[in-house]
Parts: sequence; C-alpha cells; structure tokens
Amino acid sequence: MDRKEGVAMKQDFPLLKQHMNGKPLIYLDSAATTQKPQPVLDALHRYYTTQNANVHRGVYALAATATDLYEGAREKAARFVNAHSARQIVFTRGTTEALNLVASGYLRPRLQPGDEILTTVAEHHSNLIPWQMAAKQTGARLRFLPLEADGTLDLAKAAPCITPRTRAIAIAHISNVLGTIHPIQELAALAHQNHAVLIVDAAQSAPHHPLDVQALDCDFLAFSGHKLYGPTGIGVLYGKRELLAATEPVQYGGEMIDEVELLDASWKDAPWKLEAGTPPIAEAAGLAAAIDYLEARGRDTIQQHIADLTAYAYDQLSTLDSLTLYGPKKRGGVVSFNLGGVHPHDVATVLDAAGIAVRAGHHCAQPLMKWLGVAATVRASFGIYNTRADVDALTAALREAKGLFD
Ligand code: PLP
Repeated sequence: MDRKEGVAMKQDFPLLKQHMNGKPLIYLDSAATTQKPQPVLDALHRYYTTQNANVHRGVYALAATATDLYEGAREKAARFVNAHSARQIVFTRGTTEALNLVASGYLRPRLQPGDEILTTVAEHHSNLIPWQMAAKQTGARLRFLPLEADGTLDLAKAAPCITPRTRAIAIAHISNVLGTIHPIQELAALAHQNHAVLIVDAAQSAPHHPLDVQALDCDFLAFSGHKLYGPTGIGVLYGKRELLAATEPVQYGGEMIDEVELLDASWKDAPWKLEAGTPPIAEAAGLAAAIDYLEARGRDTIQQHIADLTAYAYDQLSTLDSLTLYGPKKRGGVVSFNLGGVHPHDVATVLDAAGIAVRAGHHCAQPLMKWLGVAATVRASFGIYNTRADVDALTAALREAKGLFD
C-alpha cells in the first residue's frame, strides 16, 4: 500500500464525496466522530429492512435473528479487545455512559472518606466528572498524577502517588487533545500492587491501536462506536469478570431482571444486568460491521498509517511561523495547535471556507486548557481515510490564514 493514500479508500465513505463551501471536503475531525464506510451503512439498512425485532424475548425466528445479531456483536467486540469472553462486554451508549457506570455501579459503593482516585489534568470531561462526583458523594479525594510539560507521564514521578489509599486510577489511553499515549500496562501493575483498579478511557485508542485487554491487564476499558467508524448510540465497557459481577446496576427495568415480585426483584448475571431496557440492536449490528471493516484493513496497518500521517502533520505544521503545537511528537492521531494570536474559532472558520473541517475549542478538556495556559486550541485529527494530501491542504490553508490575520 502506498502510505500517501488512506488505509481505506475515501470512496468507501459516501459522506466524504461531498463538497463544503464549494471545495472538496477534507474531514479532519475524526477524534470527535468518524465517518462511516458503506458496509456500516449497509448493516444499519439491512437491520431495519430485514432483521428488526426485539432481542432476548421473542420465540419467533425474526426475534432469534435479532438476538443472534446482537449477541454476535458482543462476541465480535470481545475479540476486538482480546477479552476472554463475550460476557465481559457491556454495551452502553458510549464511553461517557461506560465510565459513569463504573463510577456509580462499581467504585462509589466501595469508596470511604480518605480513599483516593487518581487521574490526570488532561482527561476528557467524561473521564473526570464521574470521579469528581464519586469523590464528592463519599468523602474520597480526587488527585492528579503529575504530567511533564508536553503532557507525557513519567512513571517514576507517578509511582509515589499510587499508594494503599488509591482505590482507582482512571486515565485515557490516548489524549484527545495532546495525543499523548499513556503507559497503561505499567500503570495497571502499579495499581494492582496497591489493590486498586485501573480504568482506561480508550475512546481515542480503540479506533486506531490494536487493543489487548489481557496484555494491558486493565480492569475496565471503555470506548465509543461512533469514533470507531460505527454508529452513534453504542459503546463498549470491558470489565474483568469478577469486577463486572461486583458492579451494581444503575438502571432498572426490562431485560436486566431475573425474577420480579411486587416488592422485590433479582437480576441476571453481567453483562445483561447492566443493560436495562431495549438495547441498541441496530447500532450493535453497525458496530460489528465497523469492526469487520477495520479488521479487513489490518489493525497494525491502520496504526502505522495514523502514526505516519500524524508525524508528517507534526513536521509540516512545525514549518509554519508562529504556530504553537501542543503535546509530544510521538502521539496518537491528533494535532492541537494555535496560530499566533489568532482565535482558534477564526482559524477554524477560515479553514472551513477552504473545505477543511477541524475542531476549535476546549475539546471537553477545560482543566487541560487552563494547564496549557490557553482558552482554546485548533485540533486536526486523522482517520483511516485521510492522506498526506489532506495534511498538505491543511498546511497551505493555515499559511494563507496567517497571511490574512497578519
Ligand atoms: N474520552 C475521550 C478521550 C474522548 O475523546 C471522548 C469523546 O470525544 C470521550 C471520552 C467521550 O466519548 P462519547 O462522547 O462518545 O461518550
């Protein structure tokens, strides 16, 4: 494969055939959400035209088909992260719901005043506020592992913060702003030495990095279907068996129960006890199609492509005067920057006029913006359909934008 081309041909993604503001669309916001390849769109259409029925309940053939599809997607998601068993996969609405489930269903009932939850200042709000709330509600303390100036974590400095008071470490595998890749396996070992759990926000790593939860030895791991070239409305929470068994439901109703009496009820085993109500069945079919699509392209090839493209972008953007790049050179597929004193929203607006879609703002990481000493940044993020030509277009448009604002 010529690495100048995307791993996946743009033609597989109908949305990318559009023009924006009269220019061919260059989509550089895959960290926010990815575009969907035709097989994912086909799976959703096929589900609603030929397979739609509620799961787990009906005795008729169509209901069995829908149930097989839904539970088959669970098996596929388990293999995608190398989980031991499909029973370690809970379908949620996304990363946010998965992390909230761990905070409310597992961690909060176990926290005592004086216990500590460790995280970093660089987390997405979804991997910060659930722990803030759990700490506030129990008298536990939220503490922050130290980061280097480029946002990387030095294990030697982090290790002394992890003590017998630590109950959990919650950290992103890859930062959605800085692209920093954190040492998950090593943090898991430090957590376990102190009988704490390691919770991984894999929203940004799952799409482009092969994940092996057994090798990482993490206790919980969460990601979103829509960032993985699949549909919105579905996410995955992986958990070790005994931990999911110990997680209390936070929603109650149909699907999750075993026996119900007027004044009492009992639950099914995990994962089903944690999936109250009609689940995201079409979305599960779409997620399974997305996983097939990524696996057919090769997950190592995808990782390499994103790494090459991001390094190329880093080098190209570094050639621009007065452009400040945030984060380390070795990183996941996001590049955050500011252009002199120009407001990020103005930069994004000028890029939009050139057909280039990037994000500007705080990227759901307000404490990180404060830590960086900025109000906001521009963020370009890459997907499997992006090419070096897209990076060249971005660099040229930024050069022009700088001229406009000088
Ligand atoms: N964590 C990280 C690192 C993210 O980038 C995101 C989304 O941007 C989330 C969590 C939240 O994901 P979702 O909105 O799909 O629940």
